[in-house]
Amino acid sequence: MPSPDPTPEPAEPAPEPDADPDPGPGHRTRVVERGSFASARCDCGWKGPARRARDRARRDALSHADGTGQA
Ligand SMILES: [Zn+2]
Repeated sequence: MPSPDPTPEPAEPAPEPDADPDPGPGHRTRVVERGSFASARCDCGWKGPARRARDRARRDALSHADGTGQA
């Protein structure tokens, strides 16, 4: 005696694949020291001006990575 399935299971929504959040080409900056000067560098090829103070170079890198474009 065939019995009809009374409650078909609802199809589960397919779990979304873990997509990598891609914020775009990010700017990875670092400060490179050269002698008594320090300058910021970025993976995008940007180079900051040589600074006497590493702190200044870091700020250059930060403002560049921020997208303000100030060099
Ligand atoms: Zn950059």
